[in-house]
Amino acid sequence: MPASMPPRRSASRARAWVVCCWVALAAGAGAADTIRCLLADGFDFPVGKPDAEGYYKYRGFWPNGHLGEDWNGKGGGNSDLGDPIYSIGRGVVVLSEDVKVGWGNCIIVRHAYRDASGKIDMIDSLYAHLLERKVRVNEVVERGQLVGTMGGNNGMYAVHLHFEIRKNLQIGMNRSQFARDYSNYHSPTTFINAHRQLQASFQKVDIPVRTFAAYGKSLAADPPAGSGRGASIPIFTPKDSRASEKTPATEPDPSATSEDDFWSRLKKKMSSGKVTDSTGQAPEQKP
Ligand SMILES: [Zn+2]
Repeated sequence: MPASMPPRRSASRARAWVVCCWVALAAGAGAADTIRCLLADGFDFPVGKPDAEGYYKYRGFWPNGHLGEDWNGKGGGNSDLGDPIYSIGRGVVVLSEDVKVGWGNCIIVRHAYRDASGKIDMIDSLYAHLLERKVRVNEVVERGQLVGTMGGNNGMYAVHLHFEIRKNLQIGMNRSQFARDYSNYHSPTTFINAHRQLQASFQKVDIPVRTFAAYGKSLAADPPAGSGRGASIPIFTPKDSRASEKTPATEPDPSATSEDDFWSRLKKKMSSGKVTDSTGQAPEQKP
């Protein structure tokens, strides 16, 4: 740069450079709203891979009740503490967080796959109450890859895996804002059994990330940074909260009512020895 250049012009160039950098950074942030990933080539069970050998389903899925499945080791008691938990299929980690309250350490993996009609669809698999988390957000994981270890949310429950499969990619840790039925969830075992082996494909797809509101926030009130750019995700209608009051859940559950209220009530019950399971049911009897 010539020494004779007026200082004013130099300053404006500096400003232009700063603006350039800012635009580049903003564009970079937008690009990170999707992660490119191969389609899943099939789904396995998250414990005792691939067929859940050595484990049993202690509680199943039912709409408006238990929105996932609880898996236990056949060894009984808490002998399954620290057992490996595997990603059910190839996908991208979209949540790896100690959510605390009734959830504890959670992992959510987002999978793109080709359904029976040939259409590309996406699901989220959720693994909760983990002892340890072994993967980070935005990491691509393969079918059968270790994502965490089995826990009981720091002694809150008998050790088990709480496992969900969601159709709706906006739920994250805010289940109470969404209808608790097949419009938003799959029955996990039914889904896995129907998708054990899918056609191999080298096709990569852009998997949207950061589609959740922060825990306890709603998407409408608190859209995550960058949401809506560069990613197309299925649109779901959040549950009408007034409707939920008319149809109470069949059992206590973190999503049935205000989650904070629920967990304070549950803690009270637990301290009086009435509950050891995540749903407020009677303590689990293991062989
Ligand atoms: Zn459960």
